[in-house]
Amino acid sequence: MTKNRGDAMHEPEDKLLFQHKNAADVMGKTETEAADTYAEGYIGFLNRAKTEREAVTEAIRMAQGKAFVPWRQGMSFAADAGGTAARVYVNQRGKAVIFCVRGKRPLSEGISIISSHIDSPRLDLKMRPLYEEAGMAYLDTHYYGGIKTYQWTGIPLALHGYIVRKDGSGVPVCIGEEREDPVLFIADLLPHLAKTQMERPGKELVKAEDLDVLAGLRSFPGASGEGRIKRNILRILHEKYHITEEDLISAELSVVPAFPARDLGLDRSMVGGYGQDDKVCVYPALTALFAAEAPEYTACVVLADKEETGSLGMTGMQGAFFSNFIEDLAESSGEKARVILSQSFCLSADVNTAYYPLYPEVFDPHGEAALNHGVILFRYWGRGGKENTNDAQAETVANLRRILDDAGVLWQTGEGGQVDAESSGTLSRFFAALDIPTVDLGVPLLSMHSPFEAAAKADLYMAHRAFAAFFTRPGQ
Ligand SMILES: [Zn+2]
Repeated sequence: MTKNRGDAMHEPEDKLLFQHKNAADVMGKTETEAADTYAEGYIGFLNRAKTEREAVTEAIRMAQGKAFVPWRQGMSFAADAGGTAARVYVNQRGKAVIFCVRGKRPLSEGISIISSHIDSPRLDLKMRPLYEEAGMAYLDTHYYGGIKTYQWTGIPLALHGYIVRKDGSGVPVCIGEEREDPVLFIADLLPHLAKTQMERPGKELVKAEDLDVLAGLRSFPGASGEGRIKRNILRILHEKYHITEEDLISAELSVVPAFPARDLGLDRSMVGGYGQDDKVCVYPALTALFAAEAPEYTACVVLADKEETGSLGMTGMQGAFFSNFIEDLAESSGEKARVILSQSFCLSADVNTAYYPLYPEVFDPHGEAALNHGVILFRYWGRGGKENTNDAQAETVANLRRILDDAGVLWQTGEGGQVDAESSGTLSRFFAALDIPTVDLGVPLLSMHSPFEAAAKADLYMAHRAFAAFFTRPGQ
């Protein structure tokens, strides 16, 4: 440990052992202050980017003033020539985005890629969400991603999303974030009447079909009888957004926690907030890329949608948008896409769980990551004999270790829970499937996939430093 440093007797042993270090012991005052300042920007990002569409808008806004231009097929992408695009982005249908900074080396020597996802667990509105029962209007939901249903009752909720009318015109929706906005809510049973409910297994404590959002009680002016409450809600939506009930069929509306992200802990050592899986990796990937001036290798950030539901669809990582972009780049430089891909290096930047001592039974007692111990390097996921996992190649992992250690980044390994306890996955397998050496490197979280997740500011800051070191790594 660090207290032995400089003691010649202990030096050989120090070198033999690999031990995780606590930021509380190794991060000085200046670096801790830098982590605090960095977290302020991140908190603002979290509050402005609760959905994938908002994250794309916010990421492109952050790129403004940094010479990024939209990529067009046939464009030239060169590091030197004046007037040539050297910093480009691809807005994939408003829900995924690629940013790319031209490096000094030919594309055929590979590019550095960091991939993260910008979707987070939430409750989506159904196609015909609005109904009325017992004098109350409700919005019916279908949950998105892995959630514990009971965590979504009794908290203030906001409505975010995008409605496209029949004529093709779109309107963004955001209700519940401004101080003067109303919020929404899912009612739960009072404890006095919950005897039978509390005896149900956790999964059925709140049934998915009971995650319906209370939307209002007042009637359409002058109306009477069944449906007057629902019609009044439609009247309000029409006044605000010029939409009818049918327009909700072509809408992507999500219910998310209404509270903002903020400092967490009496010592302000953490950030608490919704959607940190995976914005806690997205934000440092962006800040590291935007800071990379003329890197050795071309540097690329891919922010994907739909990771929480299997990475399918046009904006998910199993879609074609990333491969298409690489093909475009290859064409523009007269190279082969498959050569660029096979020479590249990808960090799949996603969160992993931190050990939590109150639930030791689900963790590996020897191999877990901890909050405040830096970024987590993980080669594989467990469950059923490493099913669905990338299982990063030893050579790739060694490369990453060198980059992290050369930059003095605090890092650790994590198993993500006991072998057969865990079921999850990241984007790494999709990049590895393109013949790109890929390894997972992310930030530990507590209460992952809950409406309010916790990350250590030190780990967030180390993610920025790790990603910056990755993008500016010297040539091999
Ligand atoms: Zn994730």
